Amino acid sequence: MEQGRIIKGVGGFYDVLTENGTVATCKARGRFRNEHIAPMVGDLVEISHPENGYAAIDELLPRRNALVRPSVANIDQLIIVAAAGAPKPDWLLIDKLLLQCHALKIEPLLVLNKIDIGEKTVLSEFRRDYAAFPSLLVSSKTGEGIDLLKERLSNQISCFAGQSAVGKSSLLNALFPALKLETGGLAKKTDRGRHTTRQAELWPLMGGAVLDTPGFSLLEIEEFTQDQLNESWPEFQKAYERCRFAGCSHVSEPDCAVKELLAQGAVSPGRYERYKEIRSEIEQRRKHRYD
Ligand code: GDP
Ligand code: ZN
Repeated sequence: MEQGRIIKGVGGFYDVLTENGTVATCKARGRFRNEHIAPMVGDLVEISHPENGYAAIDELLPRRNALVRPSVANIDQLIIVAAAGAPKPDWLLIDKLLLQCHALKIEPLLVLNKIDIGEKTVLSEFRRDYAAFPSLLVSSKTGEGIDLLKERLSNQISCFAGQSAVGKSSLLNALFPALKLETGGLAKKTDRGRHTTRQAELWPLMGGAVLDTPGFSLLEIEEFTQDQLNESWPEFQKAYERCRFAGCSHVSEPDCAVKELLAQGAVSPGRYERYKEIRSEIEQRRKHRYD
């Protein structure tokens, strides 16, 4: 009995990276199909080596999380990429991804790419709004910061996300030259085809692995509690414990400690506005569901 992680699955065969660093091609036991359990890339498994035939996946260990698009389990870290040059960052998307990381117990790492053509306003906005999150400034073009990025990927199962043309494919190519992903942002022709026809694969790197398919589409932001929202805005610094009303939404209630922080400049206006926007989107959806 050996433990490992599925890094690739094609036509009923699974490549499992084992603890000793070798890759075993396995078939899943028949009972998985009978029980309607489909092993996923990222799954932690127990395998055995019969005397003849393929190695076998005997057990699936419980999943910490499972994403649908791309299909992958047990992601530890989401690399949220934005560009310091064009395209202009979609800060709202970033804040939604951060909230989702929080809900799925995935560590976020904000990566600002294209610092070789970095615009001062973007850099200062990024520094001001995301000081409470781990972040890196890199350039896939000059190689600046790529070694630091590699270090942050070690011993983690990571997936890249972010808007089109920020350089996700370029960064993956810088990390894994053999991947040869097409780049060119919005002009990419095969992007959609690639996503639908190919299964995502994990590429081992420094004791961890990186998903080769930049994606991670936003799930519909389902029910989020006020607590989850509060915690996903670390710059609120637990001030919400001092708001006059328990469960304060920090929008229109009197004696709101978060709005005091905002007035003092400890919370950036941008992050606060996007908090309100995301909060109201969640509210709208909740109303639609129950009306
Ligand atoms: P994706 O859609 O996020 O995968 O983005 P791509 O990797 O396809 O890159 C989009 C465009 O940005 C391409 O034309 C790249 O050559 C360019 N690009 C990527 N990284 C950098 C960078 O660090 N600096 C500069 N100047 N351009 C970059
Ligand atoms: Zn409040």
